[in-house]
Amino acid sequence: MNIITRFAPSPTGSLHLGAVRTAIFNFLFTKRNKGKFILRIEDTDQERSTNDSLDEILKSLNWLGVDYDDGPHIQSDRLSIYKKIAQDLVDKNLAYKCFMKNEEIEELKNQAAKEKKVYRYPRTWRDRTDHPENAKYVIRFKTPDSHIIEFSDTLRGTIKIGSDNLDDFIILKSDGYPTYNFSTVIDDAEMGITNVIRGEDHLSNTSKQTLIFDSLNKKPPLFTHVSMILGKDKTKLSKRNGSKSIQDFKDEGILPIAILNYLARLGWSHGDQEIFTLDEMVDLFDINNLTKSPAIFDEDKLKWVNSQHLKRLSNNDLLKVVKVDFYQGINIDLALSSAKVKAKDTIMLNESLKFCESELIKIGDEFIDDLYTKDTKEIIEAFYTDALDLKSFEIKEIKDCMNIFLEKRGLKMKQIALPLRIILTGSKASPGIFEVISILGKEIFSKRIEHYLES
Ligand code: GLU
Repeated sequence: MNIITRFAPSPTGSLHLGAVRTAIFNFLFTKRNKGKFILRIEDTDQERSTNDSLDEILKSLNWLGVDYDDGPHIQSDRLSIYKKIAQDLVDKNLAYKCFMKNEEIEELKNQAAKEKKVYRYPRTWRDRTDHPENAKYVIRFKTPDSHIIEFSDTLRGTIKIGSDNLDDFIILKSDGYPTYNFSTVIDDAEMGITNVIRGEDHLSNTSKQTLIFDSLNKKPPLFTHVSMILGKDKTKLSKRNGSKSIQDFKDEGILPIAILNYLARLGWSHGDQEIFTLDEMVDLFDINNLTKSPAIFDEDKLKWVNSQHLKRLSNNDLLKVVKVDFYQGINIDLALSSAKVKAKDTIMLNESLKFCESELIKIGDEFIDDLYTKDTKEIIEAFYTDALDLKSFEIKEIKDCMNIFLEKRGLKMKQIALPLRIILTGSKASPGIFEVISILGKEIFSKRIEHYLES
């Protein structure tokens, strides 16, 4: 069977981590099975859907590299299809028009609340034929009585729910827009979706959706309802307990592959392996290795995963993510190799390479007291004289030269390394001092030291 899956976000806010994780699972599962992955935008909640949110979803998926084979299909472009099918169901007596006014429903809800009962639509219009002319109506599904609804979930086996738990739910609203449960089923059926992977918060919708599939004489897909992502306080992830959007992580210097890797591992495992390339994830992803237990979001772990991926990036790939304008003569390869082993994110990486952008650098006032003592100047000048004799500025030569110098003068490494680092990089955070000198090369090194000695 050809696998066809979809990611079907509602553009009602920024793309949150739970949604992204289901997108990733669908994407990996489909790639693994050489199937088709569809992007569908479920924008039938007119009041809450925005173009900005749609833009953000598309941009985030693109940045993450979660590529779809088909779409985006926009549900609001397909309203006539949903209307026609809703009418067909009315004609077949599987659905009906309900003319109950909002105020009447509000009253019933208030009444139920007063009596501490759960509100249920009382099926007022289920069998009535005295339809008023030109009045607003919704279309409701005729939920069968005493029927066992059954569907399959790869994580939970066969799920059975009695239809008596369900209302005659609305499938088409009075503004002509379908409800989520209705349009999602029509599209899943029409697009031939074979597998639906989504959050377990949709489990209760799945029973309604199964009824709709039945009424359309269509076979439902195989479902996988994955656990929710919780914050460290074990409550649903929200802004309050650390939820961020993909854009936030991008701004914080997290690599797309780190997000893919971290989120894929949250609820899926392959032995003890923590770090995966995309190809490895596609190769190894097995829907049967997903767990039902809730996933706890741990930002420190995400950052660790990010640092591991930074380390593994080739310098060529690293050049695509760093925003550093390397000054001529800088040993770019060495600069990248030395910086990537220390950086946790691309912001840190850019920071630690700032000293590579010009011939001279500015030394902040906060360092002046440390640097401009007579002793320090004298030590730096003496080391500079020794270093100038070096034939090569390879790390090993610099290190040997420094060790001999320290021994000769009975000095400790930190007495020279710290001021030298500030003089050469303007900061305390940079690659190691031997690397820094080698990255700069003799010419820029000399210019910076002389500039310091003259000031
Ligand atoms: N639009 C729904 C959501 O964003 C899709 C759920 C589903 O995958 O069926 O939650």
